[in-house]
Amino acid sequence: MTYNLKLTNSLTKQKELFKPLNSKKITMYACGPTVYDNPHVGNARTLVVFDTLYRLLKMIYGKVNYVRNITDVDDKIIEASRKNNKSIKEITNSITEIFHNDCISLNCKLPTREPKATEHIKEMIVMTQSLIKKKFAYENKGHVYFSVDSYKNYGKLSNKNLDELKAGSRIEISKLKKNPMDFVLWKPSEEEDPGWESPWGRGRPGWHLECSVMSEKYLGKNFDIHGGGLDLIFPHHENEIAQSCCNNSSKHFANYWVHNGFVTINKEKMSKSLNNIVTISKAVKKYSGQVVRLALLSAHYSQPLNWNDELLENQKATIEKWYKLYEKTQEENILDISDALLDDLNTPGFIAKIHELYNSAIKNDKKSKILFNNACRLLGLFNIDKNQWENFKKLNRNISEELILKMIDDRNHAKKNKNFDLADKIRQDLLNKGVSIEDLKDKTIWKFK
Ligand SMILES: [Zn+2]
Repeated sequence: MTYNLKLTNSLTKQKELFKPLNSKKITMYACGPTVYDNPHVGNARTLVVFDTLYRLLKMIYGKVNYVRNITDVDDKIIEASRKNNKSIKEITNSITEIFHNDCISLNCKLPTREPKATEHIKEMIVMTQSLIKKKFAYENKGHVYFSVDSYKNYGKLSNKNLDELKAGSRIEISKLKKNPMDFVLWKPSEEEDPGWESPWGRGRPGWHLECSVMSEKYLGKNFDIHGGGLDLIFPHHENEIAQSCCNNSSKHFANYWVHNGFVTINKEKMSKSLNNIVTISKAVKKYSGQVVRLALLSAHYSQPLNWNDELLENQKATIEKWYKLYEKTQEENILDISDALLDDLNTPGFIAKIHELYNSAIKNDKKSKILFNNACRLLGLFNIDKNQWENFKKLNRNISEELILKMIDDRNHAKKNKNFDLADKIRQDLLNKGVSIEDLKDKTIWKFK
């Protein structure tokens, strides 16, 4: 049985049938984090979306070579090191560790490889030399720039020509550049900043170069899928294409470009610069990794996702309900019931399917129960068993027994004084904190929901 997967390709802006270069081994690259600050829920969306695509591709094809990089040399890291008075290594090591813990909480599978930029400087120098030799790049006073005028397809991914791009972006003005849109392949480092010896003096690579180098090294010059957040289309992905296609004299780099939409808060993009971020660790601590994961998959990956308490509370109620039918099952192929996922990774459609399976399974339909459990697992849920889930909830209760008893006492007083509004309010407050109460003849008993 063959299964047709469709994906929206940012290169063509069309939903296309996915045709792998080699169906025995799928190749996928996703841009990973720049490790300078705690990863936030906006970063988590990219992680979870591509992890879900990875799981689906594995189910369809078996073998998937999935590479996700770590950017551990960048101006933002240097800035963070100065600001916090910590060494570059301290910053990158500690943030990488937090990132890995976040991946575990969100139940993201390890990629096949997770290369670091600083471990590929030699290859980046070689690629820069090669681009200069082929006249796609030029050196000026220790800086090396890619010349955008040398690549006629520049702007194809972002669907803009050079003039439009120039008008719409913040450009680093420099007298060293031939065209203001030219971007950095290599730049000099100050003595105290990280740097490596190169034919152009001591310096460090521009950000875009690492993904061209590492994707080629681990996946080949031409590979199947390249993913990342929507904000990477320009300039990052546009520049990756320019570097790789020019260096390889090839029209093809990644065949399918898949981009996920932003996480928003009050309609604004969640980002460090807008100072409206929720870190992954904070969200996971409050709601659990599964609830956060389900929330991130509750909208189609290409659409914006608005982050708020209501969304999280709804997902929490769903996970709580689904755990009633939790069962350990043997992982099996469930592509027959995964049409929604096969259709451009339509996770909300697939979640609706899981609700349907739940409704059949709750009526004691054994087959539906197994399918239901496997469907949850394909989305990366049910990674902890029922007892662990109950334990998480217990540990996570932010209300003490003393406070519960005091609130019950207050409520009984209110009732005695016929202040029923207040009594109802206290009952509701307790419910919101996960405590349900019941009035018996001569006392009130309570339990955690
Ligand atoms: Zn990248």
